[in-house]
Amino acid sequence: ARTLRIGLIPGDGIGREVIPAGRRILESLPSSLGLNFSFVDLDAGFETFQRTGSALPDKTVETLKTECDGALFGAVSSPSTKVAGYSSPIVALRKKLDLYANVRPVKTTAGSSNGKPIDLVIVRENTEDLYVKEETTRDTPDGKVAEAIKRISERASSRISTIAGEIALRRQNIRSTSNIASVHSQPMVTITHKSNVLSQTDGLFRETARQALAAAKFSSIHVEEQIVDSMVYKLFRQPEYYDVIVAPNLYGDILSDGAAALVGSLGLVPSANVGDNFAIGEPCHGSAPDIEGLGIANPIATLRSVALMLEFLGEEAAAAKIYAAVDGNLDEAKFLSPDMGGKATTTQVLEDVLKRL
Ligand code: NAD
Ligand code: MN
Repeated sequence: ARTLRIGLIPGDGIGREVIPAGRRILESLPSSLGLNFSFVDLDAGFETFQRTGSALPDKTVETLKTECDGALFGAVSSPSTKVAGYSSPIVALRKKLDLYANVRPVKTTAGSSNGKPIDLVIVRENTEDLYVKEETTRDTPDGKVAEAIKRISERASSRISTIAGEIALRRQNIRSTSNIASVHSQPMVTITHKSNVLSQTDGLFRETARQALAAAKFSSIHVEEQIVDSMVYKLFRQPEYYDVIVAPNLYGDILSDGAAALVGSLGLVPSANVGDNFAIGEPCHGSAPDIEGLGIANPIATLRSVALMLEFLGEEAAAAKIYAAVDGNLDEAKFLSPDMGGKATTTQVLEDVLKRL
């Protein structure tokens, strides 16, 4: 049996209501999978900042680095006005643990698809592009001019494309071992860029991605590319077309929020921050102060984030079980939380999913 040590970082607001659900589903996996878990509770977030002066205590980072195989991150409340000394702990964690890929699957289930089954994953580069934040402003006779560096490197483009290829192959595995319906007969990766205009930066991304995905181990993958603006058009008209989408940081950011809007509730959409040796599962939603403490937060984004973390820790069978149990809950639609039009509490949704494991 394998034992995985998981750091639990609930953060603020409903993060504290959904992360316990994530722990429960790990503890409830069938023993036939040969997996055991141990947990360590870790602090981060705005409340932690107010209490300790740091939104991400060193102890949290050290424990993740030295003790943990993976982690679950809930959500943090970022103050609406700038507070001196505060900066987002998840952004810092991505840097400190070199989590260079942001992975966001977006899918419907049979019962929630309105005839268009969406099952795609956006793999967003997480370390460079315009997000290096190297901006300058200067005065000119025509007024101020502001400029920003858009940095694209071969290394980052290559590793994000490789992980996109690996995800495409793994999705095929998970589909074939679970009841998840496939709309694709062959794994597909769509490379997104704007190299018709940005021939050097996006041109390098496109070239490097093409090369990485031409590796022999990816020979079963159909590779295509699409200019980002026409990508948005097609993603909204025909989302069922896509499988894995790989994109530089900015396009990936925009595409992934847009794609999340296709499936109804933020409470359903998971993500993972992934590096070579570590993965943090993280629901896409925030701390939801409007429903904090009511016990009605939808735990599904977190449960799917748990599955996603497990995939990156090499536990595909366990991940497939969780995905299938969640799909079962959504398809039967008997225990849905209020954001999905139902009346079920966080605990009731969780119990219904656990019953299906
Ligand atoms: P939000 O995601 O917290 O909430 C948006 C809306 O979606 C709210 O009406 C909320 O009730 C609903 N919602 C979100 N998750 C839900 C769930 N699991 N179940 C049911 N309903 C859910 O976004 P916001 O209101 O813009 O931001 C609130 C706080 O969260 C802010 O402080 C913001 O900075 C922070 N935030 C954090 C993250 C993160 O930690 N990654 C992401 C986004 C926002
Ligand atoms: Mn975003």
